[in-house]
Amino acid sequence: MLSVVKLPPVFSVHQVPKAFQEDSIISGYRHPRSSATDCILSLFQLTNETLNVWTHFLPTWYFLYTLLSVVFMQYVWTDAYTWPLLIFLFSCCMYPLASSCAHTFSTMSTRSRHICYFFDYGALSLYSLGSALAYSEYVMPDTWVNSTFHIYYVPVAVFNSVISTAMACYSRLGFPPHYNTDTENRFAECKRPRFGKVLRILAFSYPYLFDNIPLFYRIFLCVGEGCTANEANSLHVYHIFLAFLTGFLFATHLPERLAPGRFDLIGHSHQLFHVCGVIATHFQMQAIQMDMAVRRPWLRVHAPEITFRGTHGATMLSIVISLGIICFFSYPLFYSPVRGKATRKRSSAAKKN
Ligand SMILES: [Zn+2]
Repeated sequence: MLSVVKLPPVFSVHQVPKAFQEDSIISGYRHPRSSATDCILSLFQLTNETLNVWTHFLPTWYFLYTLLSVVFMQYVWTDAYTWPLLIFLFSCCMYPLASSCAHTFSTMSTRSRHICYFFDYGALSLYSLGSALAYSEYVMPDTWVNSTFHIYYVPVAVFNSVISTAMACYSRLGFPPHYNTDTENRFAECKRPRFGKVLRILAFSYPYLFDNIPLFYRIFLCVGEGCTANEANSLHVYHIFLAFLTGFLFATHLPERLAPGRFDLIGHSHQLFHVCGVIATHFQMQAIQMDMAVRRPWLRVHAPEITFRGTHGATMLSIVISLGIICFFSYPLFYSPVRGKATRKRSSAAKKN
């Protein structure tokens, strides 16, 4: 006999713990101690997270298709010129994948929520490094190739990616030895949410701004010879515009801040932030691939040699250190003698409602 699948119930903002509450979102919350099955089932009902998941899960497949088409159509193993593109495309697949997993499973517990988003932040940092590697090899204006800035550009980007992960993780709960010690709010977000939000915006905007210095110079400031004015420039401009719009939506929580409750399920800022970010990445990919194709003969003669250490090595280093940082911030969430106490207490209250 066919049994009907029962979809999990949804809650209002007052029925979920503080760590799960979103600014100006009043309804559509999932249970704060959902099972993994309920988390997956909730993707097929309309909650305030459903479109957050799908707006990153579907683009993951598009970006993966782009990555695989490069892997299968170019001599990626022997042609070092393609390595920065490969790493960039890999990072473009990882950040929406990590984000959609985080949005799916973040309501299993307060602890899982924090850890899910720690990984999300790590993937975003990797994406900033992937962008820097591609910019260093294909986007840097002619006049800056082999300059002192160019020489230190990737090492600084690796450093930035690590600092970005650490800052973003710190923005949630503070420094691990200083996590809240009272049982009720043990894993609540940091006591100063506005400070945490500003820190998180800074954690992602400053690597982005650093990565884009050569592009901003090339597009907006450079005049005369050596400015690399080619057909990729307009694509770069679309990307820059959408990237700033993405940051604006993340920072302002518009439109829901103007009408709390009206955009709970469809149209709130986080969904728009995802969509703009993905479209920005799409234009960024196209611009990078166009620069890569058009500038190859010139770069082959003038640019420094692309090495395994400077591309895959730098990426591995960044990933290993970022994972270490995530473990550092996550580990104390497991060994607390009162772990989960506050969450269970709150969730039983939510069940009663
Ligand atoms: Zn998100």
